[in-house]
Amino acid sequence: MNIIDKRNVLASSNTRSYRRRARSAIRNIAIHHSATTSGSAEAFARYHVNNLGWPGIGYHYVVDRDGSISRCHDLEVVSYHVGNSNSFAVGICMVGDFRTQSLTDAQRQATLDLTRSLMSELNIPVENVWGHIEFPGYAWKPCPSISMGTFRNWLREEGAELTGRPAPTATYVAGVRQRSILNRGDQGDDVRALQERLEELGFHPGPIDGIYGSQTADAVMRFQRTARITVDGIVGPETRAALRDFEQVAEQPEHASPTDEPDHREELYQSETRRMLRLLSPMMRGSDVQEVQEKVGAVADGIFGPETAERVRAFQRREGIAVDGIVGPQTWRALDQSQVNTGVGYQRLLSVQSPFIRGADVQRVQRALNVQVDGMYGPLTERAVRNFQRREGITIDGIVGPQTWRRLFNE
Ligand SMILES: [Zn+2]
Repeated sequence: MNIIDKRNVLASSNTRSYRRRARSAIRNIAIHHSATTSGSAEAFARYHVNNLGWPGIGYHYVVDRDGSISRCHDLEVVSYHVGNSNSFAVGICMVGDFRTQSLTDAQRQATLDLTRSLMSELNIPVENVWGHIEFPGYAWKPCPSISMGTFRNWLREEGAELTGRPAPTATYVAGVRQRSILNRGDQGDDVRALQERLEELGFHPGPIDGIYGSQTADAVMRFQRTARITVDGIVGPETRAALRDFEQVAEQPEHASPTDEPDHREELYQSETRRMLRLLSPMMRGSDVQEVQEKVGAVADGIFGPETAERVRAFQRREGIAVDGIVGPQTWRALDQSQVNTGVGYQRLLSVQSPFIRGADVQRVQRALNVQVDGMYGPLTERAVRNFQRREGITIDGIVGPQTWRRLFNE
């Protein structure tokens, strides 16, 4: 392995530094692609520090197209690359955009060698080598855009046979049998074509298997939300037309976006042990049930009955999350967030600052503009604001002042 030590030479913040951890805290190796056709540890470090305001580069290792490896951080450094899983993960980034490129043989071999050596050094089993997309909260992120099942098989089979990437996804064509409505439980070529189209548009639906399961429904809902049509997880005429006409944003942001930072409520989630609430017999009772009822607009009697379950389902549908009427971790988070977002009025100028401005007003702007709601005013939010200002014909400065706020919320 050709490892170049860049731990002290890459761009880093003068004012912020990453937390450190014990080696024993490391449980996972995270595999990324850079989502850029070229790049280097130096370039990523500059982007993460100068544009995103991070303490340093997000990855522990970067593997170039020629197979050379840059060592960027001690393993003890808790850098940003998988959000709330940062504290127990080591990040390896392969340079390339594997949605359109293949990894080179040299790069593949170097990444496998590096991963194997880390597995042995840190005592990590192959089952704990995950793609970015496999970490909690990242089902929407097409990273690293290679099959992780195949990657893990390569790790298992020392010197295994070279296997090409799966063929590029087909376009969504009308050549296959088309039902007018597709819904959970459906199977067939038309479901497969739907999954391929979702994949092509970046709404990763899980395995392309022709089965309309919960991952496909989840991808459909994320698409519907983005396309600003009814969010129900069902493909009818409206969704079909939107899928056909939807255009991807031409400009692709670099891979590491502010959402790879840990959520500022990470500690809170970890310390919280809130019950999962659902319709059971006998019915569940308690102040947590009451709290949910108040937030979803059900009668707050503290008893989780059919009406509450129905209100929870409606809430989940609005939020574009899995609709099951059960209040689990994801729904709890969405409930917290929606609570924060209601009733926040204009408070201050919002613009990209280092560190990023955070808060409920930022979340409200993000929600209105349909960008990832992380509560931090970063470059992606700024870009969405600029686009909005352009559409509205007002001053295009990427800053939310009173005028832009009024246009956003009619307030
Ligand atoms: Zn990634």
